[in-house]
Amino acid sequence: MEKERREKPEFHTPVYEMALRQFDIAAARLNLDPNVAQRLRSPKRALIVSVPIRMDDGSIRVFEGYRVQHTMVLGPAKGGTRYHPDVNLGEVSALAMWMSWKCALIGLPLGGSKGGIRCNPKEMSRGELQRLTRRYTTEIFPLIGPERDIPGPDVGTDGQTMSWLMDTYSMQVGYTVPGIATGKPVNIGGSLGRIEATGRGVVYTAIEAAKRLNIDLSSSTAVIQGFGNVGYVAAKILHEMGCKVIAVSNSGGGVYNENGLDISRLYEFSKENPILSESKLGGEITNKELLELKCDILIPAALSAQIHENNAKNVKCKILAEGANGPTTPEADKILSEKGVFIIPDILANSGGVTVSYFEWVQDLQNFFWKEKEINEKLRDILVSAFESVMTLVKREKVDHRTAALMMGIKKITDAMLVRGLYP
Ligand code: GLU
Repeated sequence: MEKERREKPEFHTPVYEMALRQFDIAAARLNLDPNVAQRLRSPKRALIVSVPIRMDDGSIRVFEGYRVQHTMVLGPAKGGTRYHPDVNLGEVSALAMWMSWKCALIGLPLGGSKGGIRCNPKEMSRGELQRLTRRYTTEIFPLIGPERDIPGPDVGTDGQTMSWLMDTYSMQVGYTVPGIATGKPVNIGGSLGRIEATGRGVVYTAIEAAKRLNIDLSSSTAVIQGFGNVGYVAAKILHEMGCKVIAVSNSGGGVYNENGLDISRLYEFSKENPILSESKLGGEITNKELLELKCDILIPAALSAQIHENNAKNVKCKILAEGANGPTTPEADKILSEKGVFIIPDILANSGGVTVSYFEWVQDLQNFFWKEKEINEKLRDILVSAFESVMTLVKREKVDHRTAALMMGIKKITDAMLVRGLYP
């Protein structure tokens, strides 16, 4: 144990190992310069902060928070902020690394970062969450800034969290800085279309995959794990397109209806009661069973490592569109590829969120705001062109979809590193 601790950095947790294994496969295919590969296997900077806040009952609690910057070679770092009981340094570091590959893959002039606090936001009051966010922002203040690292939302955070973050940063510097965070409400410099962007992007990429498999989306079936911002929006758009969304779940379990669920009624119900099966819109189903349902499109839109070596063989979808970050382990990747599942890897499928975050940041820096139609069109252009480039690489290099997407992202970063040179 002591020896292992000495040999491995603190961020080497199972999720980080998973990100590293994906990186190593792509790096080997790219014949990456070993010096560059070594630099990219660790984050550039990682900050751990203690976040003490007064709880509503008068007691003081100290939460652990993080901000990790993986690379900043292409520009300022960009990445979400996760509030969840499982957040730790290794997970945040893996998520930061995935942000680097994602931003580079879709061609954004940004690096990759991620932040988070280990807490259970569902059990905290609005006041506690506000104090938590404000103190966390103050603690990570030395690392963030519109030209250095721009936080956005992620699991457990939303537009309100980003508003408090933006306000706290602005109070510290003495003037309003909308470009410090993305995913803000529109009235304080947020972008139209940002809330729907990740789910919309998942659907845009699923449409491209369906075209290649000759699947008519308007008569297809979809299964979605997660009914938060990503899962709900993807379900809503697919439902509007005529696709039957036959099962949906959240952390409290799922609901299944082979004739298709009424997504707007389910959403209205979920605001009052998180137990989706009590909606009577369908029968009860567990998260485990849901992933194994026969369907055209499966969208994991919750947490990482949901599809692994023990359940991958039972997955029966034709298209796996990864709304979540890291939902499939490398062992499962192998099994799914052998089964012929069309995987749209996370760094492509869920990149709509950070794409519109980038648009938000650009609009904030210019103090000039775009129309929603323009935003959705630009988003679609970026995603379709990244999708096509990945497919071209799959063919040319004879690699699986994830490896191709990673190769594209990693190559753009390493080319920039090589031409910039090593400092000093
Ligand atoms: N949480 C988003 C993701 O995983 C990114 C958040 C942002 O816009 O920075 O891609």
